[in-house]
Amino acid sequence: MGKISLQIRTTLEAIEELYTNHPDYTFLLKLKCTSCGEVSDKWHDVIESQTYPGKTGKSENNYIAKCKLCGRENCLDIVQGSNGKYTSDDQGSFKTIVTFDCRGIEPVEFSPSEGWIAKAEESGKVFDNINLTEKEWVEYDEKSQQSVGVYEFESMFISVK
Ligand SMILES: [Zn+2]
Repeated sequence: MGKISLQIRTTLEAIEELYTNHPDYTFLLKLKCTSCGEVSDKWHDVIESQTYPGKTGKSENNYIAKCKLCGRENCLDIVQGSNGKYTSDDQGSFKTIVTFDCRGIEPVEFSPSEGWIAKAEESGKVFDNINLTEKEWVEYDEKSQQSVGVYEFESMFISVK
């Protein structure tokens, strides 16, 4: 049991802020079962606006699955209101953009995929549905007549209380 935050660090070119289109953003995660240590090689979708009924039928979870190896039922939720933005002032350091409530599993890898939104610094133009699968993105902002971009995208997980 515990909470784990996803942190990102990236270089922004003429971009004021970068964020996901939560609650509909798909966090692509690789998950590890904490009872037996099994890491699935598949990517799992975790979306805040999507929930599944738990085993008791009383609760709903953003992700629920039985471990293939030990058979334990594990679940994971996105902590409501934990979504954050990465801004130009955050450059150079890691910043939490979401926190997961983990029961029996923990995320070990994250793939950024599509659904990112970036706001240009000068023109204020909002670029949406950005695909960061390649961990970078570049576009030309016609309003301010300069190129904008996201580079050197990195991510990590940290345990939080
Ligand atoms: Zn297991």
